[in-house]
Amino acid sequence: MATSLPRVARIRAERPVSEPKAVVFDEDGLAKCVREWQDRLGLGDWQFAVRIGRARNMTPDSSASLVYTWEKKTGLLEVRSPLDCPDECGTGAEVFVQDMEADVVHELLHAKLHTWQTAKDSFEEALQEQVIDDLARVLVCLKRQR
Ligand SMILES: [Zn+2]
Repeated sequence: MATSLPRVARIRAERPVSEPKAVVFDEDGLAKCVREWQDRLGLGDWQFAVRIGRARNMTPDSSASLVYTWEKKTGLLEVRSPLDCPDECGTGAEVFVQDMEADVVHELLHAKLHTWQTAKDSFEEALQEQVIDDLARVLVCLKRQR
């Protein structure tokens, strides 16, 4: 469920969501963002703890992650600290701009689509990540165009 940085960076380079400025929150702002998108995505009955984490404690090459128990509708959503971006987020010539809101939507879509299970490191998992990431970008883009 971790967001893959190289692919995310590639999408951003190809289709910027909006202006190329970082969208960064503190933990209060992150919690508000999660609440806003929970409601928008029909996940209002879930309880999510949120945390801004350091890269060294997260899945390598991930900008965010979500661990959840769908039976209890609870989860821990963690987003990489801006202290670890952009230096560790850039890949080659690609420009990475941290967008915590897009990361939140991506991770919440995993909860929304919890019945869509895939085998770890499978083609289906890669496809799922791509579909979820595309949907997250479109949803955030639509919100920002209002
Ligand atoms: Zn993901």
